[in-house]
Amino acid sequence: MNNQTTPFMPALLVLFCCSQACSTPTTDESDSDTGTPEQPVLYVVSMMHAEDAINFMDLEVAFNTMAGPLQELDALFSEHGAKTDFGPDWTFILGVQAWGPTLLTDHLAAGHGLHTHAHETSRSIKEVNDLLLEVGVSENRVANGGFKQEGPDGQNWVGYLAQQTDDSSQPLFTTAVAYKDADTQLSNGIGICFRPSTSGDWTVHDPEGPLWYIGSNALQSVGGGALDFDALRDWIDDRLANLDPSKVNTLYWHDSLHKYGQPAQASERIERWEQELTEYFDPLVADGKIVWKTFAEMSDVCQAHEAEF
Ligand SMILES: [Zn+2]
Repeated sequence: MNNQTTPFMPALLVLFCCSQACSTPTTDESDSDTGTPEQPVLYVVSMMHAEDAINFMDLEVAFNTMAGPLQELDALFSEHGAKTDFGPDWTFILGVQAWGPTLLTDHLAAGHGLHTHAHETSRSIKEVNDLLLEVGVSENRVANGGFKQEGPDGQNWVGYLAQQTDDSSQPLFTTAVAYKDADTQLSNGIGICFRPSTSGDWTVHDPEGPLWYIGSNALQSVGGGALDFDALRDWIDDRLANLDPSKVNTLYWHDSLHKYGQPAQASERIERWEQELTEYFDPLVADGKIVWKTFAEMSDVCQAHEAEF
C-alpha cells in the first residue's frame, strides 16, 4: 500500500457523492467563510517510546538521565505549539512509581499525550495499562501493542486489542497505533485513520469495527518509522504533496528515549529538534499545512469526520 492508495473502497463513493460543500479535514473551519479553497491538512504527532530493555525501577540514575530529556523535549515542543505522545513500557512506568511520581501527570497536564505501549515480553497490554492508572493516569484509550497476538476466534491483533476490557467490562481502548505491520514488522505505508477489521486482514476498513487505527505512513527507508532527522523533511514534503482530501491524513515517527541516554547525545538531539521545529515545522504550521495533535486528539478528528468516510 502506498500514499495514494487506501485500505478500503468507500473513498470512491465519498468522492462521487460529496459535493464541494462536503467538508474534509482542513486547517481552519473559517476557510469556507473567507472563500479560500480548503486544503487538506496533515495531522502530526511526535511519538516517543521507552522500551523495557532497561530496568528503570532499579536504576535511579538511568531513569533520571532519560526523564530529564523527556521533560526538556516536552517544554521545547510546547514552546512551538507542538505535541509529543509518550509510550512507556512497563519498566519505565515502575521507574516513574519509584523515582518520578509526577512525571507522566505533568506530561499530560502540559498538553502532551500518553499511550499504552507493550511489547508483552512479560507484562500484557492490560497490565501495562493498569500500571499507568497506578501512577495517576486516569484514562488512556490509545494502544500500541499486541502485535503478535490473536484475538478471540483467531482474530488478528486489532481484535486482541478490542477485547481488552476494564474492571467494569467496558472496552479499554478506542484507538490503536503502530508504525509497522503487525505480522511483517515492516512499515505498512498507511497514512490515514480508519476502522480496521478485527478478523482476517486488519487493513480492511469495517464501518462496524470497534477501534480506530491511526497510520504513521512510515518509510521503509528509515527503518520502519524510526526517527531519522536527515530523512524527515523529504518524507513529510512528499506526504504533504500526496494528501488524500477525502480522509484524515496522519503521520508520526518513532523516537526512542534510549537515544537520549547520554548527556552529550541528548543535547545534540534536542538541539536538532529545536532546529527542525523552528526551520521546518513552524512555517508549515503557520501555513496551515500541518496541525500537531496527540493520538487521542487525532482519534477525535477521525471520529468527527467519520460520516464522510
Ligand atoms: Zn517499543
